Amino acid sequence: TLTPVSVIGLGAMGSALATALLKAGHSTTVWNRSAEKAEALSEQGASRAATVVEAVQASPLVIVCVLDHTIMHELLDPLGEGLAGRVLVNLTTGTPKQAREAGAWAATMKTTYLDGAIMATPPMIGQPEAFLLYSGSEQAYEAHEATLKRFGGASSYFGTDPGLASLYDIALLTSMYMSFAGFLYGAALVGTANVDATSFATFAEGVISGIVLGDMDETARQIDDGHYPDDASPLAMQAAGMQTFIKAFHDEGIDTTILEHLKGLTDRTVAAGHAEAGLASLIEQIRRHV
Ligand code: NDP
Repeated sequence: TLTPVSVIGLGAMGSALATALLKAGHSTTVWNRSAEKAEALSEQGASRAATVVEAVQASPLVIVCVLDHTIMHELLDPLGEGLAGRVLVNLTTGTPKQAREAGAWAATMKTTYLDGAIMATPPMIGQPEAFLLYSGSEQAYEAHEATLKRFGGASSYFGTDPGLASLYDIALLTSMYMSFAGFLYGAALVGTANVDATSFATFAEGVISGIVLGDMDETARQIDDGHYPDDASPLAMQAAGMQTFIKAFHDEGIDTTILEHLKGLTDRTVAAGHAEAGLASLIEQIRRHV
């Protein structure tokens, strides 16, 4: 028989999670602050809990997906021992620190804790390619993996440190944002000569996939080794080049902020003794909190 599950929080995401469980045939209990959001789910067969306590009592596996950790604590802290013996899967977005704090808090409630991060939009939930990241109790993940895969077939477990799911999630999204921003800046620069972004993309794709993605294994190896050999483009030369790039952006009247920050990071790396190293040496200054 399938594990009964309770879902606390029925916003866009919580509703999608509950729907995926109902479709798979799980006995599903739902609770939301604004009760009307439970109506559609109730029509699909969900049981409506009148209170958070009732929702937690209804199932051994409790999923919480509300706006933020503060709200999660407001809802669950008052339960005290009421959460004991439950497996709590927290799919509320939070920082790694918040996830670790929640893990320690759950332990005081005798609750098994699994933290999760969702790299998918609500309509993607339930699809094989939807990617959810989990960390925390390994036993809980193993016991409930099949149920958790109802949300996304590509889900993964990252380790017992509850902060890992959030760390990976934010690290991946940061990589995405910065790659995206790089392309936008390039498109803006050629756009000053009325070159359309589609024409630019033809060339940018080759550079990004060939140089950035193609060399990622080597870059990763250099980061892990703490040794950043470079064949012909020493960092000091690249820093000078970046100064020219900033001037070009400035001359064409477009934003230079991100490039200036990159140049600052590069200058600090050169000053720290990496003038002859490759670009991967920037990692050392990135690791420092300025
Ligand atoms: P919504 O804004 O749609 O829903 C927010 C949920 O939080 C609702 O259930 C809402 O209840 C509840 N809530 C807000 N404030 C309170 C409060 N003071 N007390 C009790 N409940 C409260 O957001 P989503 O469902 O989209 O997001 C939920 C989580 O999922 C967030 O942490 C988000 O970062 C994460 N997520 C969302 C993604 C998305 O694309 N939507 C993608 C990945 C992660 P009420 O209905 O009563 O307002």
